[in-house]
Amino acid sequence: TGMRIGIVGLGHMGGAMAGWLVGTGAAVTGFDLHGPSVAAALEKGVTIAGAVASVAAPVVILSLPQERAVEAVLAALLPALEKGAVVVDTSTLDPLAARRFHALAASFGVDYLDAPVSGGPAGAAAGRLAMMLGGEAAAIERARPVLERMAATILHVGGPGAGQVAKLVNNLLVATHLAVAAEALRMGEAAGVKAEALLPVVNAASGRSAATEVNFPKWIISGAFDSGFSAGLMRKDVRLALGLAKAVGVPLDACAQAAALWEGADVVDAADFNRVPAAILAGEGA
Ligand code: NAD
Repeated sequence: TGMRIGIVGLGHMGGAMAGWLVGTGAAVTGFDLHGPSVAAALEKGVTIAGAVASVAAPVVILSLPQERAVEAVLAALLPALEKGAVVVDTSTLDPLAARRFHALAASFGVDYLDAPVSGGPAGAAAGRLAMMLGGEAAAIERARPVLERMAATILHVGGPGAGQVAKLVNNLLVATHLAVAAEALRMGEAAGVKAEALLPVVNAASGRSAATEVNFPKWIISGAFDSGFSAGLMRKDVRLALGLAKAVGVPLDACAQAAALWEGADVVDAADFNRVPAAILAGEGA
């Protein structure tokens, strides 16, 4: 149906979400600073706004790289929204930032939900994301018709910031699983068994994870490296998780060692994030 949806950030995730939502019959208006992101969204039937404020709608989705960008966008967006509008922020951020944005939005009579997602551009382009929400139940109910189009799984984790806490737990696990799987496979290869032969064993046995079931076969061993998630964004997530651990006074040992491999790998930020475990597997990780 012709529901109106705004979106700011039309990159790998936002562009895919916007394209899917257009396909469901929604009237989607989007904004991005980056020419190529705008051109790709235009091709998918997204109406392009000339300024952030022009995406104003009852539900506005954000898909931005970091806190600074969200801060700038909210400053322009919140004054343009009607009371009762809901901002659904799918960016991965520090939970403290999410709490701050929730309070800032409230001062404009607007609801802000931290709504980080998992599933990558492919999940976004198919309306099959997993979404973890922090915020008020009433705001979730108002946004639900949009959320249900975007996500196969919608989990209300708790109050403001709880969605981001869940996302950082998840992505710290992803980063750690990828690093330790790469190291274990490297050991196997050095002992004379190729990763191609090891992975089906691990995946039929109890060492499996999304790293061994998806990342290694689909993006690393294949040489495709086209997941649509960059090493720079994963490093951001790892840093946010380390910051959270520090803030809550929980020492990380195993995860911190894996995090150091993500920092130390000689892989540029723009590269596919699977280049980091690939470098570890190749012995270029430390
Ligand atoms: P991306 O870099 O592909 O896209 C971000 C877009 O935001 C870019 O097009 C950029 O031009 C735009 N942008 C930046 N600052 C802006 C501003 N001030 N105003 C308007 N537009 C601005 O990143 P992505 O991979 O789409 O990720 C977006 C967010 O989703 C990140 O927070 C990331 O951590 C998270 N995330 C990504 C994935 C993934 O698989 N790519 C999965 C889950 C979560």
